[in-house]
Amino acid sequence: MSTELQSELVQAVKQRRNFAIISHPDAGKTTLTEKLLLYGGAIHEAGAVKARRAQRKATSDWMAMEQQRGISITSTVLQFEYQHCQINLLDTPGHQDFSEDTYRTLAAADNAVMLIDTAKGLEAQTRKLFEVCKMRGIPIFTFINKLDRPGREPLELLDEIEQELGLQTYAVNWPIGMGDRFKGVFDRHKQQIHLFERSAHGSKEARNTIVDLGDAKIEELLEQELYFQLKNDLELLEGVGPELDLDLVHQGKMTPVFFGSAMTNFGVELFLKYFLDYALQPGVHNSSVGEVPPTYPEFSGFVFKLQANMDPKHRDRVAFIRVCTGKFEKDMTVNHARTGKIIRLSRPQKLFAQERESIDVAYAGDVIGLNNPGVFAIGDTIYVGQKLEYEGIPYFSPELFAILRNPNPSKFKQFQKGISELREEGAVQIMYSTDEAKRDPILAAVGQLQFEVVQFRLQNEYGVETQLELLPYSVARWVEGGWEPLNKVGRLFNTTTVKDSMDRPVLLFRNEWNCQQLEQDHPELKLSAVAPVFS
Ligand code: GDP
Repeated sequence: MSTELQSELVQAVKQRRNFAIISHPDAGKTTLTEKLLLYGGAIHEAGAVKARRAQRKATSDWMAMEQQRGISITSTVLQFEYQHCQINLLDTPGHQDFSEDTYRTLAAADNAVMLIDTAKGLEAQTRKLFEVCKMRGIPIFTFINKLDRPGREPLELLDEIEQELGLQTYAVNWPIGMGDRFKGVFDRHKQQIHLFERSAHGSKEARNTIVDLGDAKIEELLEQELYFQLKNDLELLEGVGPELDLDLVHQGKMTPVFFGSAMTNFGVELFLKYFLDYALQPGVHNSSVGEVPPTYPEFSGFVFKLQANMDPKHRDRVAFIRVCTGKFEKDMTVNHARTGKIIRLSRPQKLFAQERESIDVAYAGDVIGLNNPGVFAIGDTIYVGQKLEYEGIPYFSPELFAILRNPNPSKFKQFQKGISELREEGAVQIMYSTDEAKRDPILAAVGQLQFEVVQFRLQNEYGVETQLELLPYSVARWVEGGWEPLNKVGRLFNTTTVKDSMDRPVLLFRNEWNCQQLEQDHPELKLSAVAPVFS
C-alpha cells in the first residue's frame, strides 16, 4: 500500500467519531441533536431539523402513515464537523413503538449517548436499548437533561445507573442548582465553573462565563448557598466515586456523566468537547479472517439497515452501509460476500437528515446509503480484495407475535412475495407453525408499529389487504443446537414451538415466568434470547 494512502486512512480514522443516542421518548433527543448540529455548524438555526422533517413528510407518501400519526419511523444519519472531527450521529426513531431498526442501528455505532430526563431517571426504552449496547460492549456516555426544571437529586440518579445498569459512573461535570436556580455546571477536570445565561428560546449558543473554582469573583456571581452546596457535593464525589478510567469506559463498564439542559443549551458544548476526547474512534471489526483494523487498505463494510421506497416515485430501496475499513470511492466495484456478485457502487449517498447528497469518499466510521436493486440483505458484507465477511447482525428477541392472514386466495402470490421481501428487508421477523397444515406466517416484532408498517406496505405496495390476529406470547427463545436437543427432551409445557425463517426452532412463552420455569425444568436445553448470528 502506498504510504500516502496509509497516512490518509490513519488521519481519517483519528478524526472520526460515530455514535447513536439512546433514550426514552420525550427525554429530549431531537432537541439535543439540534443543539449538537448547531455547534457543528451543520445548521444555523435550531429548529431546522424539525423543519426538514416536516418538509420530508409533506413530500413522501409511503410515509403517509408517519404523517397521520405524527411520528418518525425511519432513522438516518447526520454528519457534522466539530473541532476538526467528523462526527456521525446515527439517528434512531424516537417513537416508543420502536422497531428492530433501532437495535440494528446500534450495531453500526461505536459509541452510545444515553440521554436521561432528570425528573424521570431511567425509563423503559432506555433500559432496553442499554441492553443492546451492553451486549456489544460499546462505550456509553450519559447526558442528564432538563436541569432547568426541577428534578431528582444528581447523586440519586448516579446511584440508579450504578444499581440498575451495573455501570460505574464518573461525573465529568456537576450541576450547580436546578430548576429555576440552575446556574450552570462545574467542569471537574479543568476545575472551572461554567455559568450560563439563558438566551432567547435557546436558539443561539448560550452565553457562557467560565470562572476558576478558587476565583474571588465566584462570590459575586453565585449565591452563597449554591456555592457551599457545590463544594459539599464535590467533596462527596471525590470521597465516594472512582477516578475516570478510560479503559473501563471503552469496555462499556464505566459511563462518564454530564449534566445540562439541551433546550436552553447549558452544558451541550462542554459535553461535545469531552465526548470527542473520550469516545472510541472507529475500531477493529471481527470477520471471517479475524479482526480487521479500520486502516486496512481495502474498502469493506456491512449493511445494517434497508429502507424501502424513501422516494415513492422511484420505488427505490436504500441500503445503509457502515464503512469498516479502507476508503470508499464513488463508482468503485466491490464484491458481495454472500452471493459472490460483483457490484458497481454508483450513486452513493451521504445522508444529511433525509436529504440525499452525493458523496465521493468515505472512511471507517462513516455511513453511506446505496441504492439497492434488491441485492442487499441486513448483515451483508461488501469488500474489495481478499474475501472477508463480517459477523452479521443478530435477530433481536421479539416481544409481539401475530398471525397474518391473506383472506383473498387470488392474491396468494403477491402476499408471498411481499412477506418474503419485507422479511429480507428486516421490516419484521417471520416464523411458521411446526404444523404443516397451518401455513399463515407468524409475524414477530419488537414494536407494535412493525405490524402496522407491514400491513400498510402489503396493501400499498403489493395490493394485498391482510388480517392480523394477535397471539398471547411475549417471550421468544432460540434453542441452541437446533432441533436435535429439542426433540430429545420430549413434550414441553406452557410453551409453543415454532420455526424461524431459517427453519430453526424457537420457543414462544406467554411470559418470562413460564420461560424461567422451563429453563429450571430442563437445564439441558440452552435457550438464547438472540438468534444465532447469520451471515
Ligand atoms: P425526544 O422525544 O426525545 O426527541 O424529545 P424532544 O427533543 O422532542 O423533547 C421533548 C420535550 O422536552 C419538548 O417539549 C422539548 O422542548 C422538551 N425539552 C427538551 N430538552 C429540554 C430541556 O433541556 N429542558 C426543558 N425544560 N425541556 C426540554
